[in-house]
Amino acid sequence: MAGRNALFIPGPTNMPDRIRNAIDLSMEDMRAPDFPEFTKPLFEDLKKVFQTETGQVFLFPGSGTGGWEAAITNTLSPGDKVLISRFGQFSHLWVDMCERLKLNVDVIDVEWGTGVPVEEYAKRLEADKAHEIKAVFCCHNETATGVTSDISAVRKALDAADHPALLYVDGVSSIASIDFRMDEWGVDLAVSGSQKGFMLPTGLAIVGVSQKALEKRHTAQSTRCFFDFEDMIRLNAQGYFPYTPATTLLRGLRASVDMLLEEGLENVFARHHRMAEAVRRAAIDGWGIGVCAKGPEWYSDTVTAVTVPDGFDGNQVVKHAYYQYNLSLGVGLSKVAGKVFRVGHLGSLNELMILQALAGCEMTMRDLGIPIEAGSGVAAAEEYFRETATRAQALAAE
Ligand SMILES: *Cc1c(COP(=O)(O)O)cnc(C)c1O
Repeated sequence: MAGRNALFIPGPTNMPDRIRNAIDLSMEDMRAPDFPEFTKPLFEDLKKVFQTETGQVFLFPGSGTGGWEAAITNTLSPGDKVLISRFGQFSHLWVDMCERLKLNVDVIDVEWGTGVPVEEYAKRLEADKAHEIKAVFCCHNETATGVTSDISAVRKALDAADHPALLYVDGVSSIASIDFRMDEWGVDLAVSGSQKGFMLPTGLAIVGVSQKALEKRHTAQSTRCFFDFEDMIRLNAQGYFPYTPATTLLRGLRASVDMLLEEGLENVFARHHRMAEAVRRAAIDGWGIGVCAKGPEWYSDTVTAVTVPDGFDGNQVVKHAYYQYNLSLGVGLSKVAGKVFRVGHLGSLNELMILQALAGCEMTMRDLGIPIEAGSGVAAAEEYFRETATRAQALAAE
């Protein structure tokens, strides 16, 4: 097929040429005497993306799921009580992992389309005078429903209850795309992966760990080997790894971190917000069919789950878009299977790429008989982009 696949799933995301070029290199000696000259500054700069000065960021070969496992097994013991909430496929999978790793899981189910129930967390933390709860888990950005939760509010709830539990955050589809402040929010374990906001191929689990959480490795009884922080700490201190690192991905990560810091995290977050808002304008104002997130306070700036009207199948939209227009969208998962299709809008994206995806969604929905007006979503997004366009003005003012 001529042209390119339009990749609008919420990860893996589009890979910028600069990153593609950075990973196109020969294999290198990961024990070379000058390898630390590359790795040590990378470890430091990566901390800036997590917005931490006091924590440490580990790079494991793996994916985000491996990062979850590293976070749990290095800091908790079987039987430890943990507080977690479930409102989508990704928060569900983390609950499932907690159970399989034999934690004592106190799970709060809330409506899909909402997120972390902070008031309920606050109540349970307040009531837990004996401090049986060892860990509080939050999915920062639920990728299945396009919902972002307020992590700073969870920190406030912990502090208000004067509760010592560690705070675990799944930031796989938020870190490097939307605001994430590890130090300021007192996050103890922050999990990400390479193929979303970092714009890299899949293959790295990226885990931020606070000093308080690092201490737990001395007492945590969960079985661990490959993901052991202890081995990582020892070798990373010298600029090396306990086993063969994914050197090409590390070179790519260098380019990714450079790109993020050159653009400036504030600008990266603002750009993501603008791309997301254009998609929401298209779905809500243009097509008039709405999104899965139950209100603006839950809107995600990295993925939008667009609800299809009753009687239509969201998965059919995804399939048709792929075969007819070479456009990849995200399917609805689990409880929302068939009810939504997802537009991923994170990573290396600009206005016209978003319009391309919206045009493909629009044609697809009309092909399938979903009653939306031709051009309505694209028009709503275009007008929003025009209203908020500042680049040309800024250049003219220089
Ligand atoms: C993608 C994703 C994961 C899973 O990450 P993998 O890299 O696929 O293992 C976990 N949580 C969230 C929120 C995600 O978006």
